[in-house]
Amino acid sequence: MATPVKIGIDVGGTKVFTLVLDAATRKILARTKADTPAGLKFDEFAAFLAAQAAQTLAEAGSSAADVQHIGVAVPSSVDPATGVILHSPALGWKNLPARTPLEKAFGRPVLLDNDVNCGVLAEARLGAGRGSASVVGFFVGTGLGGGIVMDGKLIRGLRGSAGEFGHTVVRSNGRKCGCGKRGCLEAYCSKTAFGRRFERLIEKRGMKSCLPELLKDETFRNVRSKVLAKAYRRGDPVVCNVLDKGADMLGIGVANVMATLAPACVVLGGGVMEALGTDLLPFVRRSAEAHLFGLGPKDLNLKLAEFGDDAVALGAALLDEA
Ligand SMILES: [Zn+2]
Repeated sequence: MATPVKIGIDVGGTKVFTLVLDAATRKILARTKADTPAGLKFDEFAAFLAAQAAQTLAEAGSSAADVQHIGVAVPSSVDPATGVILHSPALGWKNLPARTPLEKAFGRPVLLDNDVNCGVLAEARLGAGRGSASVVGFFVGTGLGGGIVMDGKLIRGLRGSAGEFGHTVVRSNGRKCGCGKRGCLEAYCSKTAFGRRFERLIEKRGMKSCLPELLKDETFRNVRSKVLAKAYRRGDPVVCNVLDKGADMLGIGVANVMATLAPACVVLGGGVMEALGTDLLPFVRRSAEAHLFGLGPKDLNLKLAEFGDDAVALGAALLDEA
């Protein structure tokens, strides 16, 4: 008998991850990874995604008739009512009515959502937050994204804009953020923020660091998390200082969310946390505890994400239940 399956697709700025999930056992049956094609019109892009899905289905030994649901995650807020992708600098999309072309390409209803919302949904249902009714996630990568799951449901807010913790202000008139404002959490705790800081401290002020010799064809701004982890574990003073400061600011963000939503579990994920989570977690916790209100350290259930690269596609596959 055919096994009902769900398809999840994580559309990133450089890669597209696709997976097929067994709807009953929640096991991942197959996954594929491809470069994100550039320069396509959106209906051509949708056809590319449908082809990726078909290939992954074939690898799972499933057919189109077995598919219960198709979910697509994108690095942008998505208006859940209209399926419009609001703004994705990574993919060059703005106010893009994406749902209709996707449904045309797949010949099926498609659910679309923000990538970090999907990642947090996966962690809440099946990963680090399973068993907790309310889960909030902070994903630290190139930027800092967030997601909120209360009573098992994603909280999307006005035009899908809830959970943008990266742009909550942690310092008045603080460092400049990529969004054009100042003092956002993302301006302290993201790879982009770390890179800017390295440029300033190492290139401009000439502080000693092992980071330049560890970089291969990368720049300070697109340094891989693994390289950061190497420098951090060598005790490099610049890298340790910048990352510990980032973790400290992230703790303030966590405390703010505890005071706002008091989730039963807070999950820290994304590339930076995957590479450095065990090192940075104590700094995040210490800072969060210092800023808690009305709750004690035992109430702070701070966990590292479990799904790594699979989280976003896995959450997209679960969107029909969210
Ligand atoms: Zn910002």
